Amino acid sequence: MAIAKKISTCIEQSSWIRKMFEQGDLLRQQFGAENVFDFTIGNPSVEPPPAFHAELKKIADNPISGMHRYMSNAGYDDTRAAVAQFLSQRSDKKVDAANVIMTCGAGGALNVVLKNVLNHGEEVIILAPYFVEYKFYIDNHCGTPVVVETKEDNFQLDLQAIENHISNKTKAIIINSPNNPTGVIYPADDLCALNKLLLRKQQEFGSTIYLVSDEPYARLAYDNQEVPAVFNCIKNSIVVTSHSKDLALPGERIGYLATNPDLDEVNKFMEGAIFCNRVLGFVNAPALAQRLITNLQNESVDIDAYEEKRDLFYTELTNLGFEVVKPQGGFYLFPKSPLEDDVEFVQLAQKYNILLVPGKGFGAPGYFRIAYCIDKQIIENSLPAWKKLAAEVGLGS
Ligand code: PLP
Repeated sequence: MAIAKKISTCIEQSSWIRKMFEQGDLLRQQFGAENVFDFTIGNPSVEPPPAFHAELKKIADNPISGMHRYMSNAGYDDTRAAVAQFLSQRSDKKVDAANVIMTCGAGGALNVVLKNVLNHGEEVIILAPYFVEYKFYIDNHCGTPVVVETKEDNFQLDLQAIENHISNKTKAIIINSPNNPTGVIYPADDLCALNKLLLRKQQEFGSTIYLVSDEPYARLAYDNQEVPAVFNCIKNSIVVTSHSKDLALPGERIGYLATNPDLDEVNKFMEGAIFCNRVLGFVNAPALAQRLITNLQNESVDIDAYEEKRDLFYTELTNLGFEVVKPQGGFYLFPKSPLEDDVEFVQLAQKYNILLVPGKGFGAPGYFRIAYCIDKQIIENSLPAWKKLAAEVGLGS
């Protein structure tokens, strides 16, 4: 075989994703796209906010000489300064442009951070249910993922479980709040308690354990909540994020990593991360996208519209008898599967043209994920199908 055995194995392990897509395509061909309720992908159907288009026009109308050339691998100084100012407003820390590196999305930022810190075989704690790509990203940089469960009743941090899995090989822990797939937000008190635990363990092992806070959904928080600033709580923290969700720009691949100014040996970390951004082949984040988001740090898509969809879907599903933790942010629901086998349930849902992702793929069998970043009308149109599905599995009877 021409491609690496490891890649073949990875593809096999994630073949359920491909199967879902193929099945979706078949259903669309058979019944027409408007009659298929596809809740599988976190690809926002909303357009970027009007301020984005205004900025795009301004840049197109006023081209600057050299605006498409290479730049410093960390990104444009004014873009980094704008991000730093935003992060300083969001936290009690004075974040400087030197703490920020522009990246190709949060995915790019995660790879830069992991490459920068991992020695061969060192461990990275991830919390189940987790974002599917984490394991692959950790493997990219020869690390070992260590999966720790969150609390069963509410998917919140289980500090005792985390402590039980920290060893002298632990190099980092990745958290994601608001969470994909559960929608939970970790409260500041829990983050501060996690900091205490990490500092204690770092002292015990004479090492640094990085807390990587993956936050692409940070602006999508509901019920007038704010996502606690991780820099206020955790000393050795790094934020990785993007504008894929808050400005609905996933195709533009624009994000950043930012370090807590109090991070151990912060200058050395940044020097390494800039090098990694270069040699991973990203070189720098897209020039045009950097210019576009510089003046949009306080803009976002309509959060209220997402909250409305969450309320509608959550209420309808719970009325039908589905068990689900109410998401506090993001755009996913993660209900319990009414059938013990979540893959079987997801297959059954296809009978009603409902496309879902099994919890198994997120390290949480027995659940399924719904992405509701789609038109409200599609959610409404799908409700009769959900009713039939609920009846078939004996819910509410
Ligand atoms: N992290 C989480 C939890 C995500 O859900 C996603 C995308 O869906 C990403 C990271 C990667 O996002 P991007 O690379 O588009 O910023």
